[in-house]
Amino acid sequence: MSMLKKTGTIGKIERPEGKILQKRIKRIAKQRVELFEANAKGVFPRTCPICDYEGKFLAYGTPPRYDAQCPSCRSLERHRLFWLYLDRSGILKQKKRVLHFAPESLLEPLIRDAADLYETSDLFAKRDVTHRVNIEDTGLPDESYDLIICNHVLEHVDDGKAVAEFYRMLKPGGVALLSTPVVEGWRETYENADVETGPDKLLHFGQADHIRYFGADVRDRIRAPGFELEDITAVEPDVHKYGLMRGETLFVATRPEKSKG
Ligand SMILES: [Zn+2]
Repeated sequence: MSMLKKTGTIGKIERPEGKILQKRIKRIAKQRVELFEANAKGVFPRTCPICDYEGKFLAYGTPPRYDAQCPSCRSLERHRLFWLYLDRSGILKQKKRVLHFAPESLLEPLIRDAADLYETSDLFAKRDVTHRVNIEDTGLPDESYDLIICNHVLEHVDDGKAVAEFYRMLKPGGVALLSTPVVEGWRETYENADVETGPDKLLHFGQADHIRYFGADVRDRIRAPGFELEDITAVEPDVHKYGLMRGETLFVATRPEKSKG
């Protein structure tokens, strides 16, 4: 991977200082706040595939993303991408025994309704879950689920151990639906043992409790235990209609019917 270094060979523009710089900071910051206030309650009308709300979505996130959150069911872009896949693939009709890690409260009742057996797992949840176990070593039985769901957890844990557990717990032919933040332009995942404190993790990994930022090699990391992998990425017209995030990917990892080797 190439790195950009400062060489000092190109000319420089004059830097404002003191009062002029302070005035400029104040003016630009005020413009940004005004822009945010104008757009926080929505820019374009969207449709929520989860609750069928039609209208403007709210801004969400730090820094804020406009038109990100459905005001009716509170879904974000990733929830809507996930739900569109579940709905269109019909996967819940075939995959009867479901294990959902860190279950999103808005998705939980919908999946519970559709599945034959629906179990949840979260080590730190305040509410009730079926299994209060460590995702890296669950102690749950081999080949016992048809579908495992795990959104935005892998960036918090030992992903190698977690995906190996998913593979072990899935029946042959079973599927894990996984999502996590990815920097697609990075070939390699960024981890850094020197980054230990919350503020440092926020600076390096984008959130105070994340321990890495995945690059495009997240696919190899998911395939490692033997999974076959398919990418589901939001495209138009879904992106503008449902308020999805450009380039956001849902990973569909299938345990082959017959294991290799
Ligand atoms: Zn909604």
